[in-house]
Amino acid sequence: MPKFDLKTIIFMSMLLTFMLSMLLAITRTHHKEVRGPGYWAVGNLVIGLGMVLVLMQLDAPKIVFLPGMALIGAGLALYLNGIQAFIGKVPDHRIPVGIFILLVLIDLYFVPIGHNLRMAVILASIVFSAIYFFSARLTFSRDEGLVGSLYWINSSLYLLMALLMLGRGIYASRVGMEVFDSFAIWPVNAYTFMLGAVSQFFISSLFVLILSYKLNQNLESIATIDGLTGVLNRRGLEDAAIKMQDMCKRINLSMAVLLIDIDHFKKVNDQHGHLTGDEVLRHLAKNISEMLRSSDVLGRYGGEEFCVFMPNTNENEALGLAERIRSGVEAKPLKLKHPTIYSTVSIGVADSVRAGYDFKGLIATADTAMYVAKKSGRNRVMSYTKISLDTN
Ligand code: GH3
Ligand code: MG
Ligand code: MG
Repeated sequence: MPKFDLKTIIFMSMLLTFMLSMLLAITRTHHKEVRGPGYWAVGNLVIGLGMVLVLMQLDAPKIVFLPGMALIGAGLALYLNGIQAFIGKVPDHRIPVGIFILLVLIDLYFVPIGHNLRMAVILASIVFSAIYFFSARLTFSRDEGLVGSLYWINSSLYLLMALLMLGRGIYASRVGMEVFDSFAIWPVNAYTFMLGAVSQFFISSLFVLILSYKLNQNLESIATIDGLTGVLNRRGLEDAAIKMQDMCKRINLSMAVLLIDIDHFKKVNDQHGHLTGDEVLRHLAKNISEMLRSSDVLGRYGGEEFCVFMPNTNENEALGLAERIRSGVEAKPLKLKHPTIYSTVSIGVADSVRAGYDFKGLIATADTAMYVAKKSGRNRVMSYTKISLDTN
């Protein structure tokens, strides 16, 4: 049986964790919008410092006080704060402070005063187990795909550490008192520290992966969202429409499209300036999105043209929604401090039954209908079927 040098393993894991912390700290300085990595970097440093103190004490013949444990506990709790921040919760700073004070008190009370190292070990194990359990619960996720799997591994590792710490406490309550006379060389201690250090390294690596995936996703959403109105841009719209088209085709549902163009928008810009024109665009996007179902997709197709794709909808049903949007826009002007800006829209409607599922074909057909709506006086809705009937 090979003999592992536990101290080297602990030391190497901590060194690697430090390096990961540097990555996390650099990420923190460049991406202030992603919350969490700063806590992880500091948490790992605090854990590392605690580990160094504990390692030094493993050599000490007589232990009086174990400040390393309190630091490791506080570091793990800071790490937990990072997870809270990362998943959008408010990090509770009382946890690391509370854990630190609790562990220091346990040590101070039971070791130098009470001379009951057994009790100190049992209580500290319970505290550690609780932090790990809480972290396991926090990282338990029902997400699918890569991030879901990474969280799942994370949560399992935390759970394993929680059970291990619980085991340590139970074990400490059952062994003979003589163990605590030579506590510094108690193997259970060395092994739990080793597993703690290795799991911390593993968990930090997983978070570096999750982080890079999240930053990538942010970039992707920047590329598909319209910066002015917050709805999908043309690229995002096309991606969403293609997904919808695949789904509708597979289960043989129709889909419909609305092309919405603001009437005489040039006049708004000319009379009130471009910034007010932008405000009108934002107002309209919000107004329209509030009238849609969650399965509908809204995007800004061009300058002052919006587009809605609807699954499981035919032209007739789409005409109903188009009419509600037309009258809704007319009824809800943009009220600025000084002027109130009234807008109307012309809407072209088409569906896959007549135009096919192809994105470009659907848009072109709705555009033809919209053009007729403009020509016949604006502030109206026109469907492709209606103009075909009229021209025949
Ligand atoms: P109609 O559609 O009723 O025929 O008239 P219109 O005045 O709306 O005509 P058109 O569609 O040709 O004009 C579009 C105008 O929209 C031109 C451009 O100045 C304005 N526009 C396009 N993008 C933006 C934008 O991002 N912000 C602002 N403020 N204006 C924009
Ligand atoms: Mg236009
Ligand atoms: Mg227009």
